[in-house]
Amino acid sequence: MRRPQSESTRREHGGYGVTPVRTCVGCRRRASVGELLRIVAEDGRLVVDTRRRLPGRGAWLHPDLECLSKAERRRAFPRALRVLGALDADGMRHDVKRLAESCTDSGSSRIQPETRKQVDPS
Ligand SMILES: [Zn+2]
Repeated sequence: MRRPQSESTRREHGGYGVTPVRTCVGCRRRASVGELLRIVAEDGRLVVDTRRRLPGRGAWLHPDLECLSKAERRRAFPRALRVLGALDADGMRHDVKRLAESCTDSGSSRIQPETRKQVDPS
């Protein structure tokens, strides 16, 4: 059994019901949830929900420092998470940086393939 590569790599249209798609709060581009990090607010801090199972609203972000700084500049996190007031982003920034580097290393945009089955309706 061989899979044609064009099928699995790029699927912008007609892929509904197969892979959930979210919009990155940094670059505003849409991507499958497997390519994005889920960011949630926890006790006034932003944290990366690596397992995508924390309760509440989530903001989606590419593991990319450029997307992160864009999102911070336009205050996308408080808006996406419906949080009033300041959010401490230090820990989240650290995690995104680390994940961005590990993604570059492997040459793949996928973070943890085994988390794909976790579907979050937020
Ligand atoms: Zn992005």
